[in-house]
Amino acid sequence: MTGRVTDPDRLSQAAKAAGAADLDALLVTPGPDLRWLTGYDALPLERLTALVVDASGAPFLVAPRLEVPAVMASPAGGLGIEVLGWEETEDPYSLIASRLPAVRRVGVADRMWAEQLMRFRAAMPGAEQSLAGAALRDLRVRKSPAEVDALRRAGQAIDRVHRRMAQFLQPGRTEREAGAEIARAILDEGHVRVDFVIVGSGPNGASPHHEVSDRVLEPGDPVVVDIGGTTAEGYCSDCTRMYCLGEPETDFRTYFLVLLEAQQAACAQAGPGVSAESVDAAARAVIAEAGYGGAFIHRTGHGIGVESHEDPYIVAGNETLLEPGMAFSIEPGIYQPGRHGARIEDIVVVTGDGIERLNVTDRDLVVLEG
Ligand code: ZN
Ligand code: ZN
Ligand code: ZN
Repeated sequence: MTGRVTDPDRLSQAAKAAGAADLDALLVTPGPDLRWLTGYDALPLERLTALVVDASGAPFLVAPRLEVPAVMASPAGGLGIEVLGWEETEDPYSLIASRLPAVRRVGVADRMWAEQLMRFRAAMPGAEQSLAGAALRDLRVRKSPAEVDALRRAGQAIDRVHRRMAQFLQPGRTEREAGAEIARAILDEGHVRVDFVIVGSGPNGASPHHEVSDRVLEPGDPVVVDIGGTTAEGYCSDCTRMYCLGEPETDFRTYFLVLLEAQQAACAQAGPGVSAESVDAAARAVIAEAGYGGAFIHRTGHGIGVESHEDPYIVAGNETLLEPGMAFSIEPGIYQPGRHGARIEDIVVVTGDGIERLNVTDRDLVVLEG
């Protein structure tokens, strides 16, 4: 198995970006930014762990003494940065404050706990706080070739799970039973963590973020299967395909074909130099034209990387121009409350002249004979 994809240059890029954003330092607690910067997948705990990226000095990592061996065993241990272990009787917030005497503005990790934010504020009363994302977003949004490779392998792993779906979706089973087997398959096929398992059968398919329930799968049910996990390399997968236990009702077929066309239209629109919102508009136009505009109740997609939802968001109002290396989902849906729903989702990455789809299993309705 391949190890976590990291890059020691990310720390110096982050220091430069902090300076450019007029931040003296970034305070990065456990979460996606820490994973992206150092490869350290720390558990968020009440005891403070924080990476300090000094815009004009060397970065250092502060961790509880008892966590230091875990830091050193992670890719962060190979970065050659100073690691300061704090004792149970010490205050790590003042330890960090004493190392940053002249700080005026700090960027705090977007996913930092409120408790930590308040304690940093108390320890550095002179420092104005803002979000570190302002500096890190631009770095994380354009994936390096190594990151694209990692996302491609994550896509292949989740595709293998979709290819096995006939084993899991069977009439007489509950969504929960099918979901438990799908979760095991997500791990078996190359992920270290299951991020979500959505099995939306029949009317449950009309709720986009339904997970699983005790509803029994019945013949004729369309089933939305939206699944994702994180690989050992630290990158996420996310893919939705539509299944039906036997032949569906005619009207389901009708709008499913509209959806398939909408997803294709959005993929055709996506590429370097076009806006994120234009990709959303391309999917929405096809669905509205066919009379289902009111049934497409969410944005077309979200970025993906070390987090399963991150920038860029494919939504009206996002004028961001897409650039090579940006990776995101294209996942329009049509939902008929009380009856059924459908969504088709691929992760795509922008290339020099278009996109590459990282999910490649058949997007057509997969009819499973029960
Ligand atoms: Zn979602
Ligand atoms: Zn999804
Ligand atoms: Zn998604």
